[in-house]
Amino acid sequence: MAKYVYLFGKTKTDGKGSMKPLLGGKGAGLAEMCRIGLPVPPGFTITTEVCTYYYDHKRTYPSSLKAQMQAGLASIEKQTGKKFGDSKNPLLVSVRSGARDSMPGMMDTILNLGLNDQTVEALAKKTGNPRFAWDCYRRFVQMYGDVVLGVQKRAGEDHEPFEVVIEKLKHDRYHRDIEDTKLTPEDLKELVVRFKALVKERAGKDFRASPWDQLMGAVGAVFGSWMNDRAIVYRRKYNIPSEWGTAVNVQAMVYGNTGDKSGSGVAFTRNPANGVKEFYGEFLINAQGEDVVAGVRTPEPVAQLKKHLPKAFAELDRIRQTLEKHFKDVQDFEFTIEEGTVYMLQTRNGKRTAMAALKFSMDMFKEKLIDWKTAVMRNPADQLDQLLAPVFDIAEAAKAATIATGLPAGPGAASGQIYLNADRAVQAADRKEAVLLVRVETSPEDLRGMIAAEGILTARGGVSSHAALVARQMGKVCVCGAAALDVDYQARTVKVDGKTFKEGDWLSIDGTAGKVFAGRVPTAPSEIVAGLIEGDESARKTEKFKSFQQLMKWCSQATRMSVRTNADTPEQTRNAIAFGAVGIGLCRTEHMFFEGDRIDAMREMILADTLDARKAALAKLLPYQRDDFAGIFRALNGFPATIRFLDPPLHEFLPNTPEQQRELAKKLGISSERIRTRVEQLHEINPMLGLRGCRLGIDFPEISEMQARAVFEAAALVQKDGVKVRPEIMIPLVGFKKELDLQLEIVHRVAGDVQHEQKVKFNYMVGTMIEVPRGALTADEIAQSAEFFSFGTNDLTQTGLGMSRDDSGSFLPHYAELEIVKNNPFATIDTTGVGQLVQIAVTKGRATRKNLKLGICGEHGGDPDSIRFFEKVGLDYVSASPFRVPVARLAAAQAAIAGKK
Ligand code: ADP
Ligand code: MG
Ligand code: MG
Repeated sequence: MAKYVYLFGKTKTDGKGSMKPLLGGKGAGLAEMCRIGLPVPPGFTITTEVCTYYYDHKRTYPSSLKAQMQAGLASIEKQTGKKFGDSKNPLLVSVRSGARDSMPGMMDTILNLGLNDQTVEALAKKTGNPRFAWDCYRRFVQMYGDVVLGVQKRAGEDHEPFEVVIEKLKHDRYHRDIEDTKLTPEDLKELVVRFKALVKERAGKDFRASPWDQLMGAVGAVFGSWMNDRAIVYRRKYNIPSEWGTAVNVQAMVYGNTGDKSGSGVAFTRNPANGVKEFYGEFLINAQGEDVVAGVRTPEPVAQLKKHLPKAFAELDRIRQTLEKHFKDVQDFEFTIEEGTVYMLQTRNGKRTAMAALKFSMDMFKEKLIDWKTAVMRNPADQLDQLLAPVFDIAEAAKAATIATGLPAGPGAASGQIYLNADRAVQAADRKEAVLLVRVETSPEDLRGMIAAEGILTARGGVSSHAALVARQMGKVCVCGAAALDVDYQARTVKVDGKTFKEGDWLSIDGTAGKVFAGRVPTAPSEIVAGLIEGDESARKTEKFKSFQQLMKWCSQATRMSVRTNADTPEQTRNAIAFGAVGIGLCRTEHMFFEGDRIDAMREMILADTLDARKAALAKLLPYQRDDFAGIFRALNGFPATIRFLDPPLHEFLPNTPEQQRELAKKLGISSERIRTRVEQLHEINPMLGLRGCRLGIDFPEISEMQARAVFEAAALVQKDGVKVRPEIMIPLVGFKKELDLQLEIVHRVAGDVQHEQKVKFNYMVGTMIEVPRGALTADEIAQSAEFFSFGTNDLTQTGLGMSRDDSGSFLPHYAELEIVKNNPFATIDTTGVGQLVQIAVTKGRATRKNLKLGICGEHGGDPDSIRFFEKVGLDYVSASPFRVPVARLAAAQAAIAGKK
């Protein structure tokens, strides 16, 4: 016979802590606490398999369940000496839902089940405390009516109907609001009468009298709540499969509401906000559990318990230490004190901020509770950037008014005077103003403005929009897609929340929470950034800084993959190295063409209609590029740099408005008509699949020639100064081996020329980006020529899915809702599809060239879930934007540790 019911208690415990999938988090935790001898009221858990059965069989139960539940009840009766439904010494139970992880949206707990008009009298008599008995009964009718019979707030009602009845009774009898604890037994008796009438009126049924019927009704309500709307929405958001199901816990009641020697509370074994090792939590005297969270009465800090009930406090403090010793992690637990005796009702790993996680892990290592690898695992990689973000003064932020919300695209806090265009933002920054760049959305033209700004705020665009991408790369605070903003470029105003902000007015944004505030909210840089990037000595002495450095050191010990960075400037490179990057995985050369008046030479090159004219323009660009590379090589100080040749479609560089065209025509001394024609010639229907990537270098070999020369002349220059250089030239968008070969010929020839001219020798590599499916599928051929592959997973996802990243915002949310995709494939790699292309390319590439170097440079290189996959397929490195490097190091280390287990 299948086992559907697991007992827990002092005499017999069937389950244990590791059985979360079967018993749910609560059931497993209760069982484990029983095993280590903590005081837990006895009970039993109905497994998640019953939930699955229930939905597979038209909401019915397995036939043996009833007998197993009866046996469970009998065991509780034996341990407590009470009897369910008894008219002398009645057993009351709680019915509690319990998914694997606690899940808002699931059924609320029902307490005091088993009471009716007879058993309440028995309870009153047995305890000699009628007030307590009637308080339990009114609570039970209220909870059962709400949760099982559906007596809840109706549309248009502001208050819970049961609370309305309580209010009315207080006013009828006392003509004012009094505390619940002041209600007399007579009041409570009357309340039960009125509650029952309310149930009858709203649910059209009499209140159930038989305890067994009550129990089955409550169990059905728990299973039923697994498929209610709130639970479904929550599961979707957090990717919890509906097959998991929930368990149900039935447990003997202990009473926190018998008087002043009783109470109920929730606590953490350490402070979950800042990590400090202190007993943290709150409690209420003379209350049942749900009062603490319901907010009807304001609880007291747990330290106060020492005054009220010193013995119980000492016992709880002892339990707190037992819990940590056993679970070896910070616990979040619930307790009830009945007449001075402590009972444990729940324990689980406590949720924590990144700051607290870091401190917990360091302290517990020092206390020898955990080893260093466990300490690494205890820091959630996707939260680590909380530690790097500038911070708002907490009190100030609480005071400030939120005027809009958007996507939290670049974590941290920023305040600034708003500017709506890049030029004016730069000018304001030159005037030493703190600038907030506000745009409908950003494009590469805004880059200078973004650099000048403290933070970036856009009305449109998602977390992988241009603004978000660049913000992450630069470590800028960014909120994007704040749709409530009405950005008027003409009037230079932002209208939101009934207010109008002009250029120069102050706004503040919280890129960790995605909030926009009116006015100026003071901020400070994180100690970690101040210490590493700004070399602030006092910041380096803080505990936060030292702990972070220790964590990163452990990451280096544990990791197999190395972590590089995506950087285009010496400054970005230096930042990334300060964060522990060991090279550049992607240097996008096109960003270099937007700075200053280089764009003019670039445009001149594109507009040229003869080879000679193009070469002349390229000659102007050469020194700029050479200086950029030299700066980057110096910043790298011996680390390798993967440099990608020109990649985007040319029209991205062109003047598109008539005004810009006229201006450029004047500068170049040609007619704007000629410019317009050339722009039209270059127009493409589908530029992302058009003349771009290596196709540019194949059509215009002189571009690749100039870029190769710039790289190698810089290499020669820097190497002569005694700094080691390791350029790795990367040809983008290769699908055919021949494409790579044509570019290789140029690179090797120019490398030879430069070495000859400069009379130096340097090492370099040439490889390719794998970012179209044909490249991945023919990786064996391509590896004959390529010395390394770097997976360009942004484009590989676009081309592999046939889904444009820039346009996916309109349908991906719906796709996620329908569970067609589990995650945004542009944020977390689609392992089954795109991942397979990566896997194929790895296998085929290494079959041809055993020591083929393999890396990834798409946005996925900074995403912990994707990094776990890259560890599994055996890449050599991941590359992430500079401020994402610590996250990538942590994720890579964790993937390596998990892989060895
Ligand atoms: P949640 O999942 O919302 O935390 P719980 O099932 O943990 O719901 O129940 C909430 C509170 O109800 C508990 O913290 C505890 O105070 C109280 N409670 C639950 N079961 C019992 C019980 N058997 N005896 C006394 N109080 C209980
Ligand atoms: Mg609970
Ligand atoms: Mg690409």
